[in-house]
Amino acid sequence: MKDVELVDIGANLTHESFRADFDAVLDRARGHGVGTIVVTGASAGGSRAALELARSHRGFLYATAGVHPHHAHEYDGDTDALLRELATADEVRAIGETGLDYFRNYSPHAAQVAAFERQLAIAIDTGKPLFLHQRDAHADFIACLDNVRDRISRAVVHCFTGERDELVACLDRGFHIGITGWISDERRGLHLREVVRTIPAERLLIETDGPYLLPRDLQPKPQSRRNEPMYLPHVLRAVAAARGESPQELASLTTRNAHTLFGWPAPAVES
Ligand SMILES: [Zn+2]
Repeated sequence: MKDVELVDIGANLTHESFRADFDAVLDRARGHGVGTIVVTGASAGGSRAALELARSHRGFLYATAGVHPHHAHEYDGDTDALLRELATADEVRAIGETGLDYFRNYSPHAAQVAAFERQLAIAIDTGKPLFLHQRDAHADFIACLDNVRDRISRAVVHCFTGERDELVACLDRGFHIGITGWISDERRGLHLREVVRTIPAERLLIETDGPYLLPRDLQPKPQSRRNEPMYLPHVLRAVAAARGESPQELASLTTRNAHTLFGWPAPAVES
């Protein structure tokens, strides 16, 4: 049986740390069984750059278009118009990353909510799924989503790191859940190894969030602290171990779920 190709649903490949060896990063990803990468758009310029990458690597890279809550204070009419334009591209598979982040508070809460609401409107108008980010802002995050709940299609809460009650709230609303190498963090990821067991198989997705969140238990430890899509199989194995499932089984599941979420044709059935 041929191994199923993995989908990294979130990698920040427009980050400057990838500039010097970008092609090698993609080659290593392919060499480690990653067949598709969704490049996260987290700012106006970053979303434009993500689409350019997707256009120059058709069928391998896709993009999201959005403004991260850290950059919410930059969100204006021009930003909104740009995101709406980018969102019409076929390579742009989701609106985001968008949401609320009250942990870092790089933008005031009111600005975060306003930018989030405008991006929810884009998702409603385009029918595209949402790529969501939430940290320390669960109640407001859910309140914003509940205002539009019957008008949004699909959504993934990326890099989920919350507690069980937050997970249940997201699952109740039909959202997918993205798990990163946070699960390998022996300081702050232990609860996630429990929580991840309760995610229904058809809602689970995996991602690296590179260059961030390098898994802390990679052996041997890489010299660079930069995370990259080649480490996605490590995330897969960590999630599989936590759930008591085989990595092969989980690979098929998460790849199929990514296709459902992003609206790609179903992957060919392997033989
Ligand atoms: Zn995020």
